[in-house]
Amino acid sequence: MPQRRIIIIGGVAAGPAAAAEARRSDADAEIILIDRGRDISYSACEMPIYIAGEVASDERLVRFDKQAFEERYGVEVRLETNVLSIDPESRHIVIEDERAGGQESMWYDALVLATGRRAYLPESLRTASHQVHMLRRLEDARLLRARIDAGPTGHLVIVGAGYVGLDAVEAFSRTGWRTTLLTSSGRVLKNGLDASMSRHVVSWLEDHKVSVRAERASGLDVAPDGRIRAVRTEEGERIGCDLVLVAAGTRPNTELAMAAGLKVGASGGIAVNVNLQTSEPAIWACGDLVEYTDAITGSSVMAPLALNAFRSGRVAGRNAARGGRGRAATMGAIVRAAAVSVTGLEIAHTGYSEESAKQSGLDAVGIDIRHRSASSNAPNKTLHVRLVAERGSRRILGAQLVGEEGAAQRANIVTALIRSGATVEDAYNVDYVYTPRLAPAHDALFVAARQLQKALDG
Ligand SMILES: Cc1cc2nc3c(=O)[nH]c(=O)nc-3n(C[C@H](O)[C@H](O)[C@H](O)COP(=O)(O)OP(=O)(O)OC[C@H]3O[C@@H](n4cnc5c(N)ncnc54)[C@H](O)[C@@H]3O)c2cc1C
Repeated sequence: MPQRRIIIIGGVAAGPAAAAEARRSDADAEIILIDRGRDISYSACEMPIYIAGEVASDERLVRFDKQAFEERYGVEVRLETNVLSIDPESRHIVIEDERAGGQESMWYDALVLATGRRAYLPESLRTASHQVHMLRRLEDARLLRARIDAGPTGHLVIVGAGYVGLDAVEAFSRTGWRTTLLTSSGRVLKNGLDASMSRHVVSWLEDHKVSVRAERASGLDVAPDGRIRAVRTEEGERIGCDLVLVAAGTRPNTELAMAAGLKVGASGGIAVNVNLQTSEPAIWACGDLVEYTDAITGSSVMAPLALNAFRSGRVAGRNAARGGRGRAATMGAIVRAAAVSVTGLEIAHTGYSEESAKQSGLDAVGIDIRHRSASSNAPNKTLHVRLVAERGSRRILGAQLVGEEGAAQRANIVTALIRSGATVEDAYNVDYVYTPRLAPAHDALFVAARQLQKALDG
């Protein structure tokens, strides 16, 4: 059989996972991994730890550099190489070497798209100022770390209160910076937390010297030398600062695929089948770029999370490399579950909030409880839990947990329950451990399930 050529575009999480799996599936194939950046195979999720100075060097975030990846997997890695276009009919791509310039056409037998997402920069916040940053790539993290290292500390305004915004609060607070979080809704993690749970987080942040302002950034005051003076808000305020981080969400890098005629789904990601094959038979897609099947509703959703990137990368890599041999790998439905830690608080959510469930047409009921992470006679911390179920079927739709300890791992229990289609009775009947120093006799999830049963029973 002639040697097949598999090209993978995107080198952070999904792309390297696809390349490694493609190599496992076809020992002889020529595999080429392309990225327009300078880095591959790094942990974007750990960038806040690096920015905070908790690891000595950015090398600690890089799992494999170009040379190590090439040697380990027998894959050719091309960095600083932009893929300009794809021609699915002739199975060619056009690339541009960003350093040397010049374009080249390359053929492929199979193509994997892992082009991920980019940080969204609202028009009103576009500026040439070197003191306005975003946080998506390792390059971004290097700039932020360099600013912290250069000193002195100052005031950082963060536009946006999603995960990246909260990660930035954590990183900068640890280095002595003052932080202000701007959130137009007045809420944090709006896609994951209902208003009641967001309030717990906001009050905790304010108690920990983070200013949370319910305002929308409308512009920037920049000095002629490029230094930032202030962030202006729609409410007419002018917030003086030394640095700005725009964390206003992300957008999928679908342009390349769309220009090649690939189908895009309703949620804006590339549409794929269970084998992660796109509407073009020789092209697979994975990671933050694609739509997944939601385990609760069966609908197509975006779920830009690291574990999904690794899992889907392996599926796409395997199927791109198998060339019709063996069994195709499949990507299962996903539950959107995430957690973050900020100024000593754990925040976790899984599945649907009551608000997002209702927006998706589900008849959702949610209850809040306040409980403890351990027995009252042992050292313990307050744990807020919100549990959400569907009224008719009584199946668990989601959970939100906020507390100093025990939030994230309890969210994992609920994720497993959601995956199995469990009802509120199943959540009540889980055999939660009890040992005074680690968990109370009635676990917070057990208490929440009981309260939710009562709410469903009217
Ligand atoms: C600060 C931060 C913290 C995070 N924390 C967590 C966390 O705690 N838990 C979690 O689950 N997830 C977290 N994430 C999300 C996680 O990092 C992403 O889900 C993951 O990186 C997605 O990987 P990906 O390979 O699909 O895409 P990306 O990481 O977006 O990588 C895509 C790559 O494709 C390249 N590319 C795009 N277009 C082209 C082109 N035309 N030519 C060549 N190259 C191209 C880009 O340069 C980029 O390097 C975090 C993200 C950030 C930014």
